[in-house]
Amino acid sequence: MSHFLDVNVEMLQRYDKPGPRYTSYPTAPHFTESFGSARFMEEIEVTNGADAPADLSLYFHLPFCESLCYFCGCTTIITRNRERIAGYLDYLDKEIELVAARMNPQRRVTQLHWGGGTPSYLEPDEIRRLFESIRSHFPFAQDAEVSIEIDPRGMTDAHLDAIVDVGFNRASMGVQDFEPQVQETINRLQSEELTRWVFDGLRTRGIESINLDLIYGLPHQSVASFERTLARIIDISPDRLAVFNYAHVPWLKKHQKIIKEETLPSVQVKLNLLKYAVETLTREDYVFIGMDHFAKPEDSLVQALNEKKLYRNFQGYSTKWGCDLYALGMSGISQLQDVYAQNTKELPDYYKALDEGRLPTQRGYRLTEDDQVRRHVITKIMCDFEIDMDQIEAHCHIDFNAYFADALAELAPFAQDKLLHITDRKLTVTDSGRLLIRNIAMAFDAYLKDDQQKSGPMYSKTL
Ligand code: SF4
Repeated sequence: MSHFLDVNVEMLQRYDKPGPRYTSYPTAPHFTESFGSARFMEEIEVTNGADAPADLSLYFHLPFCESLCYFCGCTTIITRNRERIAGYLDYLDKEIELVAARMNPQRRVTQLHWGGGTPSYLEPDEIRRLFESIRSHFPFAQDAEVSIEIDPRGMTDAHLDAIVDVGFNRASMGVQDFEPQVQETINRLQSEELTRWVFDGLRTRGIESINLDLIYGLPHQSVASFERTLARIIDISPDRLAVFNYAHVPWLKKHQKIIKEETLPSVQVKLNLLKYAVETLTREDYVFIGMDHFAKPEDSLVQALNEKKLYRNFQGYSTKWGCDLYALGMSGISQLQDVYAQNTKELPDYYKALDEGRLPTQRGYRLTEDDQVRRHVITKIMCDFEIDMDQIEAHCHIDFNAYFADALAELAPFAQDKLLHITDRKLTVTDSGRLLIRNIAMAFDAYLKDDQQKSGPMYSKTL
């Protein structure tokens, strides 16, 4: 399977422009403050009252980290003040109570994820306490996927025991890169030995699925250095692997200014890094799932990909079609059927809302009919790498060619460059086209031109 990616820099320069990662459509900048907690409560009532209310996917945002990684794009709070963290957990309890009290008790949790920040920065007894609180308020499905993001730095045997004892069955760990020079520049020193110790600790305690995260496009990375990191990762043999594109957006994330532009790899090097990762991992029998994910053939993500049941939400690629996602904690974004609602990103506002007995929703959005059609098409192209026009027409009650005449015209150059095959009733993304999947999806986005005219780049570069 080597060298199957026929993309060059000249092509990239033509197509590479800032674009969303499409974990939602429309994207979060389009949510409005006129949609607040009262409106969100009404929407919860509606979804509860459906004939067969959807299963639940719960997300908990635990924003605290001990130190700042300079590349970080997450909503974090850097602190060593343990009381501050304990105080946040008290408020999470209040939010759990508010949400659970409004939830139809028939609805089961089929997916739970703790993200951040660094959820594993909680003390072991805090992990136990928060988990117990969640379990006592929501019924869980027997086969629920229960996952946590772990930073190996700071982990102890007691953390590993707590994570497994409470019932996590999946874990995801950030590695980013093993090279000392890269680690120093991004302020994240994490040895291979430590990563292996935590990985093995999770495995021997019976965790079913472990994901590792790498990032390409970090300062001082070269193909030779990335080769070394990737060889060690393959030897560790995670079930899943994410290879994210470093999003350098210093105008949105001020601390990224610490990273000097001249240390970043060129577009040519970034392209080579990505090609190297895709070609090496697929040769090693990992399946290229989507934009940035890889998994072993027996993994449920691969099964979902093969059955065209892959789905995309705020947590990235997922196998859980049809769940309602409730996000708790500051900045969390919930996604009910046709509604998004985001919690406030400011801790004082988050606490104030909960003290007043209100959900801490700051803004949200109800999709229009056009949004629903476009979201369906964008999800299909991001997950299946294929658009079946008959399926879209049946699902959305539209005439595809008429509805998307502009998008099809915009995509013609992609077809000429063999990034996309367009036939009578199908659009199929080629292997090379997967590297530019965000750009292909952007053709179906009704908001993009307006976004760029209004406020300059709102998104990271697609490569
Ligand atoms: S540990 Fe993760 S969330 Fe925290 S600063 Fe580093 S990258 Fe960001």
